[in-house]
Amino acid sequence: MSDCLFCQIVSGNVSAQIVAQTDSLIAFQDIHPQAPKHVLIIPKEHIESAKTISQTQSALIGQMVLLAQELNPERDFRLTINAGVEAGQSVFHLHMHVLSGRSFSWPPG
Ligand code: 5GP
Ligand code: ZN
Repeated sequence: MSDCLFCQIVSGNVSAQIVAQTDSLIAFQDIHPQAPKHVLIIPKEHIESAKTISQTQSALIGQMVLLAQELNPERDFRLTINAGVEAGQSVFHLHMHVLSGRSFSWPPG
């Protein structure tokens, strides 16, 4: 989608610090990191939200978790998917936040 920020990162029209890629996913550093390491993992395919992902597309979520493991072989990490405005989603292209390098509290804000 041409008006989607993360599709623009996938196509290279918007620059990002890419840390990993697979056939279907791309991982890059969040521009406003909330932890010493804060990476976003997104599907290359435009999917608006975890709220709308289809059964066929849902295998991507497992692939995202496996990539998060690879990016953090020795540390604990927190995975977050904000789904919808009330949950804090601001970019409507599915993404998984992978946060690590500090302790995290619960419940989240
Ligand atoms: P959300 O609030 O939708 O769960 O997360 C969107 C994330 O995208 C935020 O953490 C925000 O910092 C990040 N972000 C927004 N614009 C850009 C950008 O242009 N480049 C990168 N690398 N991250 C961005
Ligand atoms: Zn998109």
